[in-house]
Amino acid sequence: MIHSDHSTLCCCAFQSRDINARVNVERNSSSLCFHSRRRPGHAYRINRSNRKAPPPPPPPDYENDNGEGLLRVVAMYDFTAKENTDLTLKRGEEYIILHKQDQLWWNAQDAHGNRGFIPSNHVTEKNKIEVNRWYCKNITRTVAEQLLRQEDKDGGFIVRDSSQHGVYTVSIYAKTLGITGGIRHYQIKQNENDQFYLAEKHLHKSIPELIHYHTHNAGGLVNRLRYPVGRCVPATAGFSSEKWEIDPSELTFMKELGSGQFGLVRLGKWRAQLKVAIKVIREGAMLEEDFIEEAKVMMKLCHRKLVQLYGVCLHSRPLLIVCEFMENGCLLNFLRKKRRGLKGAWLISMCQDACEGMEYLETHGFLHRDLAARNCLINEHNVVKVCDFGMTRYVLDDQYTSSNGAKFPVKWSPPEVIHYCKYSSKSDVWSYGVLMWEIFSEGSVPFGCKTNKEVVEEITRGVRLYRPHRASQQVYGVMYKCWHEKAEGRPSFSELLAEVRRLAEQQD
Ligand code: ADP
Repeated sequence: MIHSDHSTLCCCAFQSRDINARVNVERNSSSLCFHSRRRPGHAYRINRSNRKAPPPPPPPDYENDNGEGLLRVVAMYDFTAKENTDLTLKRGEEYIILHKQDQLWWNAQDAHGNRGFIPSNHVTEKNKIEVNRWYCKNITRTVAEQLLRQEDKDGGFIVRDSSQHGVYTVSIYAKTLGITGGIRHYQIKQNENDQFYLAEKHLHKSIPELIHYHTHNAGGLVNRLRYPVGRCVPATAGFSSEKWEIDPSELTFMKELGSGQFGLVRLGKWRAQLKVAIKVIREGAMLEEDFIEEAKVMMKLCHRKLVQLYGVCLHSRPLLIVCEFMENGCLLNFLRKKRRGLKGAWLISMCQDACEGMEYLETHGFLHRDLAARNCLINEHNVVKVCDFGMTRYVLDDQYTSSNGAKFPVKWSPPEVIHYCKYSSKSDVWSYGVLMWEIFSEGSVPFGCKTNKEVVEEITRGVRLYRPHRASQQVYGVMYKCWHEKAEGRPSFSELLAEVRRLAEQQD
């Protein structure tokens, strides 16, 4: 019942690694340089010994997925190798991909012939827009505005995806707008001759050319584009390619962040550098063996809107689970603390973030099973990320796991879960609707002080949560769709995301 959830991921996690073994033999050798042709193994080498040359090795299989030869990429961020099997990346430099071990760590070679594993989310193909420092992927309009305000630089700008697929928007900060500075958003348009423009008078062959032009000339914009802002380094799936087990001696413990179903959560540092959150698992709180098996799969879930699991200290007790640290803590507390300080645009931006994380889980066939504001966290840039996905399966507490139990999240569960424990992405969609409701009611408790039994009765009669005071009819319409009695009547996360993005772009 449980383990069919992640079949897609399992296949990539346990791919054959024989090609890597071959590649590693030649690591750090300078005899191979960049080859643009297929089958680079055929490059000539000088044999300096008198011994008879061994038969040539079989040609290595260094092709990209289409068999078109070597894949060349550019680093979007710096990455420091943590183990000697990894390769350090420098932003802007070129690398060739020798082998895609899985979706997340690739075997690469730099211009000096050094080889090792790199995180795939730190590089991009040469001609992609991601190469540019000014482009921020998956950033909402509200978060773009917050980043520009935080930076407070006249001419700060971000190029981001617009709500229309394949269209980009430039967001610019200008101190001349209003007393505290203001922001303008311009969609990059394309004419029938495939030329790009922000202002119709100034046409360009490509988006980088357009940005280059406007860094020197306002050309009709509120300001010229002076400072690219807001590009944050994404978390990697584990600290290193092969490393999901963490050595506890490399962790230092700092203040307590909170406590949950499994025990205390502490702020810590890994190798005295990287801030992490450490879950200290209370004895008897978790099905540890089962979790440890699943952790290998969970680590492969890597997305900007999911709290990254970095690894587990396997052999020490209490069991320690190490994950990405989120400075602003739990979303539910954040909503309750800020209340009126949260503008409508920010509320929908939070919904968009959570929806992006959930869409990723949906496409990877992974179920959350306990999506709620208490299981979302918020980082220093106010980006919301989904956490604790799939974790309810390892809780050792009947009150939490049985649908009759006092701690069972009845108020977030659809009828088929309450009555038949039938989980699916569509049961996560129901919970997502309740999460939207929590966000737009600034952290209120759904169904107030009604008991679980009363809630089940109401839901069965077709009663649904009322429209929260901060939600427009349109926003309420989206959450209401998530509460269709039948799972198949609810939208998918990808459909929801398209709607939520549209709503986010309409906000002022
Ligand atoms: P559990 O999984 O044991 O139920 P939670 O994930 O609910 O624990 O965490 C309990 C509290 O600890 C959260 O409400 C939050 O305040 C804090 N916390 C948990 N994980 C993190 C994190 N990654 N970064 C910052 N704070 C966190």
